[in-house]
Amino acid sequence: MSTRAQTHTAVVEAREQLAPHLVRLTLGGAGLAGLVSSGVPDEWVGLIVPGQFQSRYYTVRSFDGVRLVLDVVVHEEGLVTEWAARDCVGDEVTITDPKGSFALPDDTTWLLLVGDLTAMPAMARIAEAHPDLTVRVWAEVPDELPGYLPRHADVTWLLPPGPGASDLATVVEKIDWPDGDGYFWMAGESAQMRAIRKHLMRDRGLSSTAYDVMGYWRGAQKRQPRAVDPGPVWRAGKAAGLTDQQIWERFDASHEEDR
Ligand SMILES: Cc1cc2nc3c(=O)[nH]c(=O)nc-3n(C[C@H](O)[C@H](O)[C@H](O)COP(=O)(O)OP(=O)(O)OC[C@H]3O[C@@H](n4cnc5c(N)ncnc54)[C@H](O)[C@@H]3O)c2cc1C
Repeated sequence: MSTRAQTHTAVVEAREQLAPHLVRLTLGGAGLAGLVSSGVPDEWVGLIVPGQFQSRYYTVRSFDGVRLVLDVVVHEEGLVTEWAARDCVGDEVTITDPKGSFALPDDTTWLLLVGDLTAMPAMARIAEAHPDLTVRVWAEVPDELPGYLPRHADVTWLLPPGPGASDLATVVEKIDWPDGDGYFWMAGESAQMRAIRKHLMRDRGLSSTAYDVMGYWRGAQKRQPRAVDPGPVWRAGKAAGLTDQQIWERFDASHEEDR
């Protein structure tokens, strides 16, 4: 059985600047007809933008069976960032099937959600999906986002300590944990998330079913410069039956002189 994710072609129908660092893309087109939501509120898709073959993950902000909405953080530099920062309406992209991870145990009465700007789409969807629960949110975001989270969520807005930096580990250590049964969900920079998982396991003694902490991006990771559009090379590699890794290795080896 193939483990390769099912892909769908979509077209960018609209681009809206929600805030200085957040762009909303509405995707449509016949290729989305086969896309099926997992129903899990933190579900995400892989997004491949024109001329690229590496994907980046984005939360499904909404999908009504016809239009798929993604809210994309525009940070300093990045493959999707640079594409989404421009007018990309009319561009064709590739999307993988949605997958989710959020798993609320029975008898939950409260939800704690913590994250940076990349986590806002998932925190909004999770909160919207649970109007019956007490929801507290800590959002570390550089921009004001009035109305982004539903009204029943009790939100603490925090400014990031600097570009690409986060202090969410300290924030979590200071949380006054509610009584009773609840669930903790968090996403942000991966190294911070590792520290928080340790804190939840060792200091708070939480069982692994009581929380979900996701590394959404890697601060230490540098983008590899590529002087040539890899799209045609990838298509030729695929036609020759190569894996993505083999295509990348050959591509990089043959373009060493471009760097
Ligand atoms: C399950 C999941 C769901 C996600 N949902 C969303 C979402 O809904 N919206 C969203 O915007 N992102 C989301 N992300 C995060 C997103 O996939 C990453 O931020 C991704 O690296 C962005 O790709 P890029 O091409 O812009 O930058 P890349 O080419 O991947 O990275 C280029 C450089 O930018 C740095 N970088 C990457 N992301 C950030 C950032 N957020 N802030 C500062 N520096 C950064 C990297 O360290 C690297 O040095 C999600 C990630 C996961 C795993």
